[in-house]
Amino acid sequence: MAVAANVTPGGPVMAIFAHPDDAEFVVGGTLAHWADAGRRLICVFCTNGSKGTQDPTLGSERLVKLRQEEQRAAGSTLGCHDFVFLPYEDAMLEPTIALRRDLVREIRRYRPQTVVCFDPRVYVLDDTYLQHPDHRASGEAALAAVYPAARDRLTFPELLFEEGLEPHNVEEVYLALPVQANLYVDIGATLDRKIEAMLQHRSQIVDPARTASLLREFAERAGAAANLRSAEAFHYVNLDPEARLRQTQSASTQKG
Ligand SMILES: [Zn+2]
Repeated sequence: MAVAANVTPGGPVMAIFAHPDDAEFVVGGTLAHWADAGRRLICVFCTNGSKGTQDPTLGSERLVKLRQEEQRAAGSTLGCHDFVFLPYEDAMLEPTIALRRDLVREIRRYRPQTVVCFDPRVYVLDDTYLQHPDHRASGEAALAAVYPAARDRLTFPELLFEEGLEPHNVEEVYLALPVQANLYVDIGATLDRKIEAMLQHRSQIVDPARTASLLREFAERAGAAANLRSAEAFHYVNLDPEARLRQTQSASTQKG
């Protein structure tokens, strides 16, 4: 079972998720590692988070503003300072061509080496959780934006010819909450920061101690599969044949 060593310095990382708080909850430990390694983080949220409350005094408009403020605070705890909030309606997200175009725009603008997003193939998470349909839709749109749309100059020609956004090849994709993991990132050093970041989403948290223990429990469970105390699990996909070759060569050099 592969344990990620590749949290080393690299290019920008774009996290594409459905709602404010998804990034911290699911991959916060890994994002903090990347930020510590000097990588620029860009967090993209497809929906405005307008449905995420049980508070009858809180209307959608105020909630959207509040959640963006919470997201900025949470992201900066991890080391993310670039945020993109797309305006799609919470709980109604679909992997449309319009969403794909919006994501291609951000990929071409920020030119990430790495994209991290939900695994869109997941409907059920273990025996106790159903995957949120927005999560699936955001993952599907993100993958379609990475390949082939961001790469191909004649896809969404208006992005190139009107907005001047050149095509871009993303090198690698990390699918979070995957059907089956092939890579584990050790988050022992960043789990506390992940929890601290998550707790910035005050409007979403009823019981901070319960949230913290839940995150520890998830991290331990993921870690157990890779003999780590705490981890985040991914299905890792490397899209760049030259990068794969470099990795193989450096692995054989290390062995030799
Ligand atoms: Zn979510």
